[in-house]
Amino acid sequence: MDGQYGDSTRSVKAIASEAVPGQPVGPSPVPAAAFHLSSQQDDPLDAYGRSSNPTWRQLESALAQLEGAASALAFGSGMAAISSVLRVLAKPDSTLVVPADGYYQVRRYASEYLAAHGVTVIPAATRDMGAASAEADVVLAESPANPGLDVVDLHQLAMQCRRRGAILVVDNTTATPLGQQPLSLGADVVVASATKALSGHSDLLAGYVASSHAELITAVARERLLSGAILGAFEAWLLLRSLGTAGLRFERQCHNAAALAVTLNAHPAVRAVRYPGLPDDPSHRIACAQMKRFGGLIAVELADADAVHALVERSGLLIASTSFGGIHTSVDRRARWGDEVSDGFARISLGIEDTDDLIADIEQALG
Ligand SMILES: *Cc1c(COP(=O)(O)O)cnc(C)c1O
Repeated sequence: MDGQYGDSTRSVKAIASEAVPGQPVGPSPVPAAAFHLSSQQDDPLDAYGRSSNPTWRQLESALAQLEGAASALAFGSGMAAISSVLRVLAKPDSTLVVPADGYYQVRRYASEYLAAHGVTVIPAATRDMGAASAEADVVLAESPANPGLDVVDLHQLAMQCRRRGAILVVDNTTATPLGQQPLSLGADVVVASATKALSGHSDLLAGYVASSHAELITAVARERLLSGAILGAFEAWLLLRSLGTAGLRFERQCHNAAALAVTLNAHPAVRAVRYPGLPDDPSHRIACAQMKRFGGLIAVELADADAVHALVERSGLLIASTSFGGIHTSVDRRARWGDEVSDGFARISLGIEDTDDLIADIEQALG
């Protein structure tokens, strides 16, 4: 039913509260560690704050709607969501494929923690995920991959995993559910950081898991209860509140990214640009087939580290900051964090500033 609506309509509808006269129109936080119990009911919905909370449920229902999933589970961060799913799925003696060019902490978690528990971890480049999946029991794909923005054909990968009996987990952080819906392309589970574009204000950390496999959701909910990787009620509320404007913000971010990608592509100071929305990008064809929007991130390569620092210093709008998806346009030089990229490689996260202001500012800052 919601398929007929545009992004902003879906965002607004996803957080709509029931129309009860006298009740608030917007979401309200319910901070509680313990709830009153009744003498009749042994297993109430809300008993203790580590197992459930009404604000989570509202948030989870909104996230499930946006991802096209039967259920979603909120977590205290993207890493809490991802590591919980991997602890449930990647058993000792199983083989897990992780993106070699994706978010580095996930790779680190797999090689430092899961490998020590008997999981064989195979890092594979996003473009080689299909071939690597032939060996796997669990495949974690990230598309577009952070920070290089390579895209993998998710439908094809899902078919390959299904044939082999492997489970496909997709990290949907960079695209957001407004950019692509991995479950509709055949993925089994979506994991994501809501710290980025979904919350969008660079002021909270959150993560989630979405899936239509009831047994898997039950197992991940149990893992969350036991590991305690929960989201606070206030963060859940702030995220819920932010989801209402996610469509509006993401639309502007994607528009700004498309405009800046074209500008950078034509600029002599720029050595290389990756943006799935650029017609000459190696990922463009697959991106067109599976993405509704190409996202708010651009990967750019300048001459060296000094060139990236000079760009930020000469600009009146850019800020140097890691993370992405916020309302401010930000630049992150990834070699600083140990990504295997050149010193002049930067990920630019587009904010919601006016497009003309941003392009003019960056053009003058590039010199
Ligand atoms: C940021 C990020 C994560 C981790 O999310 P946190 O909320 O920082 O824990 C996972 N995957 C990707 C692709 C990310 O960009």
